[in-house]
Amino acid sequence: MIVVMHPQATPEQIKNVEERLTELGFKTHPIYGQEKTVIGAIGDKKSLSSEALVTFPGVEKVVPILKPYKLVSKELKQTKTTVRVGTVEIGSDEIVVMAGPCAVESVEQLISSAHRVKEAGAKILRGGAFKPRTSPYAFQGLEEEGLKMLSQAKEETGLPIVTEVVDPRDVGLVAQYADIIQIGARNMQNFRLLQEAGMAGKPILLKRGLSSTIEEWLMAAEYIMDTGNEQVILCERGIRTFETATRNTLDLSAVPVVQENSHLPVLVDPSHGTGSWKYVASMAKAALAAGADGLLIEVHPEPSRALCDGPQSLNPDKFKDLMEKLKPIAQAVGKRI
Ligand code: PEP
Ligand code: MN
Repeated sequence: MIVVMHPQATPEQIKNVEERLTELGFKTHPIYGQEKTVIGAIGDKKSLSSEALVTFPGVEKVVPILKPYKLVSKELKQTKTTVRVGTVEIGSDEIVVMAGPCAVESVEQLISSAHRVKEAGAKILRGGAFKPRTSPYAFQGLEEEGLKMLSQAKEETGLPIVTEVVDPRDVGLVAQYADIIQIGARNMQNFRLLQEAGMAGKPILLKRGLSSTIEEWLMAAEYIMDTGNEQVILCERGIRTFETATRNTLDLSAVPVVQENSHLPVLVDPSHGTGSWKYVASMAKAALAAGADGLLIEVHPEPSRALCDGPQSLNPDKFKDLMEKLKPIAQAVGKRI
């Protein structure tokens, strides 16, 4: 439920309400708005009748949160969440593009990718050191060595790093190197991983599961926020449907649906969403037009030699060209890139 405090409620009154809720076993999440403070209270409502709370000094009203996800919900927080990483603000009126290779393969490959995506206007460097591959015989990533290369690329270019963690036991290690921890589609409902990653204190990029509904995706985000981590970025990356012409079906309608129901920023990944570099530009443009807060795009210096996801990777020239073409679209929806 949401406890809405009067605009004139004193800090003391807010504290009293929070203390009482905590005593009753609720987790409290105060949100200090410009006009008034609201306190999100998550717990078993049976321990308290809402009427009793309304009689507390400073309380204006008590409203239930109807959605199964609470902290993620727009019912609790109407203002949009922005996630700051260095000087970049995800969820603001600046479109944030995260780009780089699917996997870190070598220092040369990564550093070259980092320079090229930065020149083109990307704000965050992506690259997997732990890869969740369908086949156990496929390249699994360079693990810590790859993380070190990401650090080196960050040092050389100043670009913050987003990289995936696939195992709860590696969260501590990945958090030492990553500016944003990625939870991949295959792990969207790995609840222990969500909790461990949430507790690492870094922003989390949560990709939508291959066959997950939007509600399941938002419930996964709730697991992260329930650890006290408010820095969650959602990423639509396509879902499984009967269509085989593309690797996945990129569900762009998820963007406005998420924005209607949640305050969290949402990115779109047209690379995994389509599985083919030929369709990446069209869907990236469409994603911005649909209102996405940013993009995640795979870029490889030589896609034909990539150890992972080469067919969907743009080469640096194509990426640069796309970034130019995105500018008027960002402008048309009141944003900049
Ligand atoms: C990736 O970003 O390289 C990746 C594996 O993505 P997804 O989890 O969306 O498949
Ligand atoms: Mn990939």
